[in-house]
Amino acid sequence: MRPEILFPFFSDTTSLPGVGGRIAASLEKVAGTRILDLLWHLPVDLIDRRASPKLSDIKFDQVATLEVTVGKHDIAPAKSRKPYRVWCHDDSSTIQLIFFHPRHDYLAKQLPEGEKRLVSGKVEIYNGQLQMSHPDYILPSEKRDEIPKVEPVYPLTAGISGKVMARIIGDANKKAIELPEWLDRTLLEREGWQSWHASLASVHKPEKLSDLEPSTKARTRLAYDELLANQLALEIMRRQTKKKKGRVMKSSGALVNKAIDALPYDLTGAQSRTVEELKVDMGQPSAMMRLLQGDVGSGKTVVALLSMLIAVENGAQAALLAPTEILARQHYAGLSDVAEKIGVNIAILTGRDKGKARDKLLTDLENGKIDILIGTHAIFQKDVIYHDLAMSVVDEQHRFGVEQRMALSAKGKAGIGMDILAMTATPIPRTLTLTVYGDMDVSRLDEKPPGRTPIDTRVMTLSRIDEIVVAAKRAIESGARLYWVCPLVEESEVMDLAAAEERYRHLMQVFGERVGLVHGKMKAKEKDTVMEKFASGEIDILVATTVIEVGVDVPEATVMIIEHAERFGLSQLHQLRGRVGRGADKSTCLLLYGSALGATAKARLKIMRETEDGFLIAEEDLKLRGAGEVLGTRQSGLPKFKVASIEDHQKLIPMARDDARLVLENDPDLSSERGKNLRILLYLFERDEGVKYLKSG
Ligand code: ADP
Ligand code: MG
Repeated sequence: MRPEILFPFFSDTTSLPGVGGRIAASLEKVAGTRILDLLWHLPVDLIDRRASPKLSDIKFDQVATLEVTVGKHDIAPAKSRKPYRVWCHDDSSTIQLIFFHPRHDYLAKQLPEGEKRLVSGKVEIYNGQLQMSHPDYILPSEKRDEIPKVEPVYPLTAGISGKVMARIIGDANKKAIELPEWLDRTLLEREGWQSWHASLASVHKPEKLSDLEPSTKARTRLAYDELLANQLALEIMRRQTKKKKGRVMKSSGALVNKAIDALPYDLTGAQSRTVEELKVDMGQPSAMMRLLQGDVGSGKTVVALLSMLIAVENGAQAALLAPTEILARQHYAGLSDVAEKIGVNIAILTGRDKGKARDKLLTDLENGKIDILIGTHAIFQKDVIYHDLAMSVVDEQHRFGVEQRMALSAKGKAGIGMDILAMTATPIPRTLTLTVYGDMDVSRLDEKPPGRTPIDTRVMTLSRIDEIVVAAKRAIESGARLYWVCPLVEESEVMDLAAAEERYRHLMQVFGERVGLVHGKMKAKEKDTVMEKFASGEIDILVATTVIEVGVDVPEATVMIIEHAERFGLSQLHQLRGRVGRGADKSTCLLLYGSALGATAKARLKIMRETEDGFLIAEEDLKLRGAGEVLGTRQSGLPKFKVASIEDHQKLIPMARDDARLVLENDPDLSSERGKNLRILLYLFERDEGVKYLKSG
């Protein structure tokens, strides 16, 4: 249960003055629905209104707050394009206030001729005349206090002005009460950090540009809080899994070695090493929690098979969970050959299986006639009963939530922790494995199976689209299959879709029925149908938003075209490119960019051209990625942080990890004074999923 002290933080933004339906909807788009979301919506710029010069001393293009006497109103005739002008002056010079389409009665009231007024806004010069168009503030002189000296500028969205946003977030900050300190005193003193509340307040009240940097003491403290919450949550989960007794499953080699002999190739060094790591883990009396990181095509599937065979050697069952029907089928097709050769019973169960066939399968599973079950979420439904499930593989693990992994684990014998091997094709830098997978042991498949032809990657401008279509036509005529990935448009799946549909129609005009389209708004079944058509060669071109399934294997696909490649994260480009180069034929990847590229964008695309090593690409991506350039995280499985930036606060990660481990070592249930405060921290950052495992404090 969320501590009461946090209730104000989680109340709706509509509880703030002046926030109703439409504004709340805009806020939701850019920040969220709760006060807390507004607090994490941090300023990216500021407007300094402190300059208050005489008109003759003004610097142009400067924001200033001026005290002027209102003069004549020049009202433009109706229908003319001329603006409404109000002449103002002080004893040194004159300035025009400019308004387009104003309400006349409003201006007459705000700016009565002959009276003094404060006006604040950006001053420009036009034909030698000072001007300010649409001042941000117009107030009588005695109300100077109502004009903020420095105004934070927040990321905006349609329907909300900067001024309104600043006011609303200011109001949200008033609801942010002080919370009991969860950080260690000595750490606070050493780093010179203020309390959480003071730090938050100061982040929202920048006085100078440098106050907006991620490295300020205030932002660093908040980032540390967030990373600590993240590490605590992971550590609680890790301790929870380790607490459960696991089954000791030593490998006799009876099946594993037979399978290795039956494979048409030799294992790579990385595969053999990983299998050894798995043997050690599974032979331990605690449950295995291992992550297998390996690039697309690095050969994770066979490692999964060998680990499942260790369970079968021990008389138990194993399961492989895949995120989609098509991936499940691919795994099944890829593994059933070897399984058959060595006399292991393997079966597949997905949402498509119904009726008698399904009943028979469930009976066999319960009787232990099936050794290995492969499938989608169908494999952990209520009526699916295993004879003795002791080991599970979760493919593309970031596609599954904690609950789903838990549901699968619950299919094992009561009171015994299941051995879990999670797999991911998203290589992430070592520093980040701590933030994402701090609760798991990690194996890396950092060596590709031999004999791959490198992918020819080229970078070119989108304006050459006509040539590209001609080249695509030629490729298809000689039997190639082609992916065409459409631009990722910021924030909007709807717009992604519009772009993809447009390209789809365009390509249909050239290629007719041989083109298919997949996108995120389609039902899983519809997607599968199109993917299958592509896999079987019924269509040659697959136009897609970024939903192309990670791991889908169509060896005949040899061309990957990515529009607006500059908008993707490097890791994402790498993932997409990994769809080709899977067969014996030479593959090509075209990275098309939209307009003139900045230096960073150029550097990133250059890396793509130079290497196919996913781990290297991930490291470089991290180095090159500026704050805000986080588009690529959308599908990468990296956690989204509110304050912390993986790029800027990397050094805090190991610190937070050690802190979390030490705290839980000494206070495993977070029941001490500091422990209780840390619970508040977990709730504040919504990392409280593990709190239920702690004894109540
Ligand atoms: P991923 O890691 O992307 O899941 P897969 O397991 O699908 O990769 O393997 C990609 C391809 O490489 C498959 O066709 C598989 O048969 C093949 N493969 C796996 N290991 C080896 C190896 N050691 N030598 C040669 N080919 C291999
Ligand atoms: Mg795979």
